[in-house]
Amino acid sequence: GPAPESQKEAQAWLDQHGRKFGLFIDNQWSDSGELFASTNPADGKPLADLTQASADDVDRAVAAARRAQPAWAALGGHGRAKILYAIARLMQKHARLFAVLETLDNGKTIRETRDADLPLVARHFYHHAGWAQLLDEEFPNHRPVGVVGQIVPWNFPLLMLAWKIAPALAAGNTVVFKPAEFTPLTALLFAEICVQAGVPAGVVNIVTGDGRTGEAIVKHEGIDKLAFTGSTEVGRLIREATAGTGKKLSLELGGKSPYIVFDDADIDAAVEGLVDSIWFNQGQVCCAGSRLLVQESVEERFLKKLKARMDNLRLGSPLDKSMDIGALVDPIQRQRIHGLVEAARAEGCEIYQPSACEIPADGSWFPPTLITGASTSAAVAQAEIFGPVLVAMSFRTPAEAVQLANNTVYGLAACVWSENISLALDVAPQIKAGVVWINTANQFDAACGFGGYKESGYGREGGREGLYEYLVPVSEDARPALPPV
Ligand code: NAD
Repeated sequence: GPAPESQKEAQAWLDQHGRKFGLFIDNQWSDSGELFASTNPADGKPLADLTQASADDVDRAVAAARRAQPAWAALGGHGRAKILYAIARLMQKHARLFAVLETLDNGKTIRETRDADLPLVARHFYHHAGWAQLLDEEFPNHRPVGVVGQIVPWNFPLLMLAWKIAPALAAGNTVVFKPAEFTPLTALLFAEICVQAGVPAGVVNIVTGDGRTGEAIVKHEGIDKLAFTGSTEVGRLIREATAGTGKKLSLELGGKSPYIVFDDADIDAAVEGLVDSIWFNQGQVCCAGSRLLVQESVEERFLKKLKARMDNLRLGSPLDKSMDIGALVDPIQRQRIHGLVEAARAEGCEIYQPSACEIPADGSWFPPTLITGASTSAAVAQAEIFGPVLVAMSFRTPAEAVQLANNTVYGLAACVWSENISLALDVAPQIKAGVVWINTANQFDAACGFGGYKESGYGREGGREGLYEYLVPVSEDARPALPPV
């Protein structure tokens, strides 16, 4: 596992807080009545008690953010960059503590939190510190939106926080941020980092709680913009609730991304890419390559290699760095995934799961699963499973591959594998998805806009495109101050 010191450090941090956390508003910790528990999904044991923020708490957070916003904007890009650089450096300094805490709270493997989540988080803050410095030059006729409400899911708790908070602060906004109720801990450690980095009071406010807290943020009149990542279902509710309010809105929602393998692809590389695409974070990834579309002539060879590779995946304690597959975030997810897989079995699909894969007695787990023989309209072929379950289908021609790829209400990501670059470059733009990777998967960069088409939402996060979400254009001679607090 990771160095025992980091595990001790994480336990010590929880103990130091008495395993009970309040809300972070105006750089102060405050308790209010109702508590909820966050558990370690790998063993089902409670980790800490958190505060369920009420509508009044959200109101206090929004008021703090409104008070702080004019001075934060007036600090200027260089002033804000200094603080964002400090955050980035502190995230790197405490990366191991963050990684262990994230693994404890979410169940994802330490190899992923250490080697993917934390480096990407630091990169995101560095990148946006750079943007803060360039802001006046690159966006001369823009001003910050004002106070931003941000709501994220549990699958990449800290990375989604970085994707939300870094660009918002760079652009001169202040935030009221809500982590998911399953995974609030790293956001609270982040609050402490903000204080150390010199973030002024009220600029970052973190309120924990479930959908009720989310609703209070969505409905609050003092919020100028909402940024939401989560399910398409809740995204729809937010869209309805904000219609006619003048609030700016960006939504990053679900996906059912195709993974297309042509017969001339490097099969071994494509198998390895697929393992990363669908089993990274137990498949609880919005852009997971959950639909394999493989050309008929290589289908048998590809699936044989894939099953052999599945047999070698190790599932177990997420803190053990030799593990490939960790725990699912919550038993509720296991129930959902189990239901979808069993429905496919009842419909006559073939289900492959490695026979040697032992499931630990405690906690919430699901083995890597491959489904073949599903019709294109089956629930497993259409619904976002959000688990370690791959559905495989075959195609004959590139046109059929494109048709199958687009046969979904979603449009977040896609992968195309072929050694024929002309074919890959011909197919890629025909797929309605926010990102198409060629001969690779899961490449994320802070400089590159990420987001969806269709029911996967709208707006982009990352790079220049992402900054527009946190700015509003103004005419050259009139850069109005924000309304008085
Ligand atoms: P969810 O929509 O249930 O919850 C997301 C967040 O919204 C949580 O913080 C939750 O407390 C809050 N929430 C719940 N009800 C709310 C309401 N009525 N008003 C306001 N906020 C509310 O989603 P989840 O189950 O936590 O996450 C999984 C989903 O997120 C998947 O569908 C996945 O595809 C999606 N996702 C998308 C992206 C992306 O970038 N497109 C990234 C990660 C996850």
